[in-house]
Amino acid sequence: MSCSPVELNQKCSSLVATWRHYRGNPTFEEFVEFAVTLNSFCEFLIAKSVAGVTHAGHDLEQLALTLFGTSESHPLPEATIETLQIKVDTLQQAIAEFIATHGKPQEERRAGGANATAVVDIPKQREVWFVGHAPATWREMLSQLSYFGVRVEFQHWDAMPPVIADVPLLLLNIAGLEADSWPERVRELRKRFGSSDLIGLSVPSDFDSLQAALTAGCDHCFPEGTGMPIILAKILELNDNQEQEDYRVLVVEDSHTATRLIQRTLEENGVDSHAIDDPRFVLDAMKSYNPDLILMDMYMPTCTGVEAARVIRQHPQFLSVPIVYLSGETDVALQIDALRLGGDHFLTKPFNPVFLNAIVKSKIERYRALRRSMFHDSLTGLLNHTSSKRSLDAALANATKVDSPLSVAMIDIDHFKRVNDHYGHPIGDQVIRSLAWLLKQRLRRNDIIGRYGGEEFLVALPDTDGETAFRVLDRIRRDFSQIKHPYADNSFNSTFSSGVASFPQWKYGEDLVKEADEALYHAKRRGRNRVVVAGMERDGYLAPG
Ligand code: GH3
Ligand code: MG
Ligand code: MG
Ligand code: MG
Repeated sequence: MSCSPVELNQKCSSLVATWRHYRGNPTFEEFVEFAVTLNSFCEFLIAKSVAGVTHAGHDLEQLALTLFGTSESHPLPEATIETLQIKVDTLQQAIAEFIATHGKPQEERRAGGANATAVVDIPKQREVWFVGHAPATWREMLSQLSYFGVRVEFQHWDAMPPVIADVPLLLLNIAGLEADSWPERVRELRKRFGSSDLIGLSVPSDFDSLQAALTAGCDHCFPEGTGMPIILAKILELNDNQEQEDYRVLVVEDSHTATRLIQRTLEENGVDSHAIDDPRFVLDAMKSYNPDLILMDMYMPTCTGVEAARVIRQHPQFLSVPIVYLSGETDVALQIDALRLGGDHFLTKPFNPVFLNAIVKSKIERYRALRRSMFHDSLTGLLNHTSSKRSLDAALANATKVDSPLSVAMIDIDHFKRVNDHYGHPIGDQVIRSLAWLLKQRLRRNDIIGRYGGEEFLVALPDTDGETAFRVLDRIRRDFSQIKHPYADNSFNSTFSSGVASFPQWKYGEDLVKEADEALYHAKRRGRNRVVVAGMERDGYLAPG
C-alpha cells in the first residue's frame, strides 16, 4: 500500500493546524484555508483507501461545507465551533487507531529484506487484476491483453493479497458467487481500492442486479453474455484514459489572495494552473500555456472579465476554450450578460472548493472531447490525416532546430480487402482499431500516431534513427501478427507491412512520407508482414508460423 503512517500523520497535523488557526483567528479566509485542506485530505484518504478513517473525514467535510457562508458568517457561533471541534477530535482518533493497527506491520514489511524490495522494484507496467473464477474463454481474452502490453494478475475472491497495491483496474467476475453475498464483496473492494476502476463481469442483466452492482461500487458492468471484443475494447479504452495529461487552467485574477486560494484548490485536485494578474496579457498566456479552461475574474482594474473574454473569442483558435467567470457579483442580470458575451459558466466568490473542482473538471472533459472530435479519427481516436501531417511538420521543425534524428513510418495492413470480404466490414473495423490500440500502448507519449487513410497509419518517432525505428516497429509487427481477432466462434490473425524513412537523410515532411511509402511498397512486394527502411538494406521479415 502506498499510504505510509508518516505521510498520514503529516497530512493530519497540517489539517489540525489550519483548524487551530481558524480558532485563533476566526475569519472567512482562515475557514477557506481549513476547508480546502480538509477537502484535499479527504481526497487523499479515498485515494489511499484509508479504510475506517474516510467516514470520519467525510462527516467533518460535509459539515464544513454547509458552514462555508460569506465573510459575514464568521466567526461561527460558539456551539457550531464546538461541534466542529468534536468532529476534528473524532477524525484524529480514527487516524491514531488506523496507524496503531496498520502502521507496525507495514514498517516491518518495509524492513523485511529481499522480498520487500522486490515489491517496490516491479517495473511500471500496466496491470489489471482479474478477481474470481476464470474459465478458458476469459483466460484467452486476457492473454490477448498481453500483446497490448497489459499484464493480468489472477486473484481469488477469498484470497486477495493483504497488501493494498495501486491497481488501476480490477475486473470482478461475480459468476459462481451467492446472489446475496456478491454486492457486499464488491463494496469491500470499493473501500480498499478507492481510486481504481472496478468492472463487474457476468452480472445478471436484470435491473436489480445491475443497480446492486453499480451502487456497491462498480464503475461499469458487463451483463452476462457480453461479447469479449466489447469488454476488451473497454479495458483498452480505460487504460488510455489513465494516460491523459494533467488538466491545465489559466487563472486571470487581480487579487493575489483569491489567486492563491484558487491555485491551491486546483493543485490539491491534481489540476495544473498558471496565473496572470493583468488581463491584457491573456493572449500571450494562452499561446504559451495552452490552457484547457480559463477562470476569469469579473472585475479587474485594467479591463473587465467580459471584455477580456470578448477579445479572446476574436481569435478562431480560442473560440471553444471554456471560460468560467469568478466574481462576488450576485446580480443575475449581469451574470446572464456575461454568459451571453462569451462565457461558459459563472461561479460566485467566495467559491466552494468542491464545486469549483467539479465545474472545472466537467468543463475540461467536455472541451477535450470536443477537441478530440475535431482533430482525431472517430474509429480509432488517433490523429486524423490532416492533424497527423501538421504534427509531423511541427516535430520535424523541432528536430531540425535541435539537430536530432526523426523517423517516419507508414504502416498498411496486409490483404485487408480479404479481411473485409471474408469477415465483413465491422470486423475489419475491429482489426483497424486493435492496431491503433497496439500502437498507442507501445509508442511513447510524444510519438505521433495518425490514421492516415482507411487501413493505413502514419507514425513519427522523434529522437529516433532508422535503425532504432526498425527495431521498435518490427517488435510491434511481430506482436500484431499474434493477436487473435475474434470472429464467430473462431478467430483469425492479421499482419501489416511498414516502410521507414528518417531525418536527416530526408529533410522535408513530404519527402519523408514519400520515401516511407516507397519502402512500404517494397515491403509489400517482398511478401508483406515485414518492415523495410528506406536507403538501408534492411528487411525484418520473419517467416510467419
Ligand atoms: P495490401 O496488402 O496490398 O495492402 O492489400 P489490401 O487488400 O490491404 O489492399 P489495399 O490497401 O489497397 O486495400 C485497402 C482496403 O481497406 C480497401 C477498403 O475497402 C478497406 N478499407 C478502407 N477503409 C476502411 C475502414 O475504415 N474499415 C474497413 N473495414 N475497411 C476499410
Ligand atoms: Mg477583481
Ligand atoms: Mg492501403
Ligand atoms: Mg492494405
